[in-house]
Amino acid sequence: MIKTVGYAAQQAGAKLTPFEFLHRELGANDILIEILYCGVCHSDVHQARGEWGAKIFPMVPGHEIVGSVSRVGSDVTRYKVGDSVGVGCMVDSCRQCVSCHENLEQFCVEGFTATYNSLERERGTPTWGGYANYIVVREEFVLRIAPKADLARTAPLLCAGITTYSPMRQWNVGQGQKVAVIGLGGLGHMAIKIAAALGAEVTLFTRSNAKQEDALRLGASKVVVSKDDAAMAAQHNQFDFILDTVSAPHDLNAHLQTLKRDGVMVMVGMSPDSMPVSPAPLVMGRRILAGSLIGGIAETQEMLDFCVQHNISSDIELINIQDINQAYDRMDKADVKYRFVIDMGSLQTVKS
Ligand code: NAP
Ligand code: ZN
Ligand code: ZN
Repeated sequence: MIKTVGYAAQQAGAKLTPFEFLHRELGANDILIEILYCGVCHSDVHQARGEWGAKIFPMVPGHEIVGSVSRVGSDVTRYKVGDSVGVGCMVDSCRQCVSCHENLEQFCVEGFTATYNSLERERGTPTWGGYANYIVVREEFVLRIAPKADLARTAPLLCAGITTYSPMRQWNVGQGQKVAVIGLGGLGHMAIKIAAALGAEVTLFTRSNAKQEDALRLGASKVVVSKDDAAMAAQHNQFDFILDTVSAPHDLNAHLQTLKRDGVMVMVGMSPDSMPVSPAPLVMGRRILAGSLIGGIAETQEMLDFCVQHNISSDIELINIQDINQAYDRMDKADVKYRFVIDMGSLQTVKS
């Protein structure tokens, strides 16, 4: 067993505190990764507070993991000690069902094994996430990080990057299209960068004009304040594609009306509470409301390569692990520019 130290919530809503636990000893296909950086996703906040269905406590959150291979199992062929690697939201799936065969492990019919807050397929023991110094993962679920990449700024791509890239690829976002992103947080800022790199003209919907300058710098050409009814009405029938990244309930109908006929709005934000959808904006414009869940492993690698090619990485605030609870509080206020990333070197002081 591999002795590991990290930060865990002992119960729903509890502050995260230091926690020691054991990862499984390496099987033939496993890789031991020394975690160097881990991004802080709003899904970590939702789950550590028990806001979604499944909850296994103690919980070590973290699924935007970047690190270095420190040991490999006997059958591992794709990675060697010292390689820079990443792990996202999944660490396993059945690897046999129709979704898994189509490289859509996130829709595995048996349910994928999440990086944390999940049970290992073979042993039935909890998975532990990336707010820690080590993780053990099957090689099929490990991503290759370019040797020259800035590791801290790459970590958020493992969830925020793929979650925004995948629906844009699925719905063929590209040149000549008008795209809108709702919410400028971790997912939202990656969505702006990726949509712009795909050639789209990008508008940001945000609640105030506080983030206007940043949005333009990130690649948007316009910012619309969603609390301003007149500004919203002026956007009716404008967009081919909208990506909704908001983490809390908000007015979906007002945004649906800004789609063109046959336009698509994809929900990736996962508010724990429902929101009313009126049939009218869907019916009147033959508009489509859809959802999307992270992305498969092959597509995640494609996204990482795309980001290297287009020089895209995340705008981050690097924090020590001791500051994680404050980071959660700031995320509640949408006060992060635009992703917290934990420098796992800060765990050194916890270990002693
Ligand atoms: P985040 O960094 O906290 O950003 C969320 C943004 O939503 C905020 O910056 C804010 O934007 C906006 N917002 C927050 N509260 C709002 C409210 N009450 N009304 C309107 N807008 C509000 O969160 P994130 O890490 O990007 O994650 C966003 C959501 O996506 C979370 O629910 C997360 O669980 C989910 N998620 C889903 C997937 C998936 O596979 N589908 C993957 C990862 C994350 P402004 O300040 O610009 O208004
Ligand atoms: Zn996430
Ligand atoms: Zn499967």
